[in-house]
Amino acid sequence: MTKSPLRLPALAALALCATALTPLGAAALDAPTASEVSTTLAPKYGDWGFDATGQDRSAAPGADFYRFANGTWQDKEVIPDDKTRYGNFDLLTALSEARTRVLIEDAAAGHSSDPDAVKVGAAYRAFMDQARIDSLDAAPLKSDLDAIRNERSLSDVARVMGGSNANFQSAIFEVGIQTDEKAPTRYAVYLGTDGMGLPDRDYYLQPQYADKKAAYQAYIETQLAQVGWTDPKAAAQAVIDLEGKIAEASWSRAQERDALKTYNPMTIEALSAMAPGFDFKTFLDAAGVGDAPRVVVTTDTAFAPIAKIFAATPLETLKAWQAFHLIDGASPYLSDRFVQARFAFRGKTMGGQPEIQPRWKRGVGFANGALGEAVGRMYVAQYFTPQAKAQMDALVGNLKAALAARIQRVAWMSPATKAKAEHKLSMLTVKIGYPAKWRDYSALSLTDDDLYGNAERSSAFEWKRDLKRKDGPVDKLEWGMTPQTVNAYYNSTNNEIVFPAAILQPPFFDPNADPAINYGGIGGVIGHEMTHGFDDQGRHSDGDGALREWWTKADGRKFDARAKRLGAQYSGFEVLPGIHVKGDQTMGENIADLGGILLALDAYHASLHGKPAPVIDGLTGDQRVFLGWAQVWRTKVRDDRAKDLAVSDVHSPARFRVNGPLHNVDAWYKAFGVKPGDPLYVPPEKRVRIW
Ligand SMILES: [Zn+2]
Repeated sequence: MTKSPLRLPALAALALCATALTPLGAAALDAPTASEVSTTLAPKYGDWGFDATGQDRSAAPGADFYRFANGTWQDKEVIPDDKTRYGNFDLLTALSEARTRVLIEDAAAGHSSDPDAVKVGAAYRAFMDQARIDSLDAAPLKSDLDAIRNERSLSDVARVMGGSNANFQSAIFEVGIQTDEKAPTRYAVYLGTDGMGLPDRDYYLQPQYADKKAAYQAYIETQLAQVGWTDPKAAAQAVIDLEGKIAEASWSRAQERDALKTYNPMTIEALSAMAPGFDFKTFLDAAGVGDAPRVVVTTDTAFAPIAKIFAATPLETLKAWQAFHLIDGASPYLSDRFVQARFAFRGKTMGGQPEIQPRWKRGVGFANGALGEAVGRMYVAQYFTPQAKAQMDALVGNLKAALAARIQRVAWMSPATKAKAEHKLSMLTVKIGYPAKWRDYSALSLTDDDLYGNAERSSAFEWKRDLKRKDGPVDKLEWGMTPQTVNAYYNSTNNEIVFPAAILQPPFFDPNADPAINYGGIGGVIGHEMTHGFDDQGRHSDGDGALREWWTKADGRKFDARAKRLGAQYSGFEVLPGIHVKGDQTMGENIADLGGILLALDAYHASLHGKPAPVIDGLTGDQRVFLGWAQVWRTKVRDDRAKDLAVSDVHSPARFRVNGPLHNVDAWYKAFGVKPGDPLYVPPEKRVRIW
């Protein structure tokens, strides 16, 4: 139920990309200057790019390589009170946040007449005006709450739900406009199921999450009581019962990953006939897409049961459900009591986070969300150099050559499929740093005195843009992440890999570091994203990004058998006592991690042009590549958050993103002398080899 201003289909991100606004406000500190930010927050990684002081050399590499590479860091590092997770991604995110704060506060001080900067300034000033926000209290909710209170029929409910892309309302079915996966030059209207306020269906269905479910029910009651809803206790019970039924009918995350089974085109009439009980025509009319000749239904078999649940639910319960989700979604933009209530549940209880982020961080987050590319344009002007782009171009070229050579070498694939795989790789698009064409924000209107309205207008602006381009050609220049985001992604419908400017920094990428560290860091990241084009789902789309079977049946079966063995390995990894990695849910990411490190190593070897790798501080080139990979995954996570991620994240926990791929890599055994009997040891015939 979290709304993202950027909707991209089929997008496989490197790491978590959700930066949910976490409520509450401490007083804004004096902002540091740009140079203070860079000197105090930019991390340092030894003399040649690896922080050896963070290692635990008493740990055997073959027992726990993550510990060997990162153990001392892991023991000493303290997760900041306003975070649920901390590591190298988060350190760089904090750096980006501090840098964009300087830019945004400068805009808010009125130092620029650039129209985008004026808007960024207004977005931030409105967010920071705590006194006004507190004095308005629940008043901004009034018209949206009235829309719910005035509903007289199930069709009225469907109509209000249909408008939810452009405001704070919520819906039990989601509608979006995305690139058509089978015809990637045009857009299609996509439909999925929604309706749960907890992070995953497991929270409703598995006994180990019962305490969180109880806390959620109390939170629903609190929020409904805050707006004077009738009998909030009974309403909260009814809402959680409704969501429990939706959870039972919903697909699992692993099922939702299935690229083939989630593509079910049909007319709106056929959809209505398939899932009676919910007024899809009214819902889609309200969304602005009721004239679509066809829609693509993703989790199709969940539609009929959820429509039936909807039809059997009393109107008053549906209204309570809508009211609660309206309040929950809007709380970060309301007065302190709403902010605090939301943080107490979503931050503290769900994430184990002791303190809310200071208000300025939330304000920076809001400006980045509403005007991401406007802030991004300011960011790259100051923090991204053409040299970085040129070096990345060269690295990507080397990684691409490594993958082409691997496709040639794999013994299990037929020449016919190989030729098509090579063709797909040759068609790969690479985007580095920032978009060639920036977003136009001229139609977005923001004011200093209306935070709630700004947030709603920002949603409406995004949705109107989607509606407007629905019938036109797909804009292939668009980006799914802002340049100031520390992440990367593969987008299957564009067959493209994308690296925002902010990830092109140490420890991922450092022009002054030992090349082996860069290959283990950003090289592994590039290899990871490229491999997504050939993972268990990415392999189903072709060089043009179209979902189309280009594999021979026999090759497909061989691939699946290998992937299945990898999944079984990961399902054996324990995150917390009794909670295991879900091998099927994390399959694509695990395949990409394994491919990533192998390609990085190959590309590093090729870069030596036959010369032996230098030895640095007693470490061989291969050892440094593996340490570089391990270093980027340095991460600490609070237990509550780890529990959440185990069921809701498609990535494995950091420790297994290191140990999981490496214990399938022959060169790693050789580099560190890992022998039979070592805990991570896997006999050569049982190591999983895909690419
Ligand atoms: Zn990935």
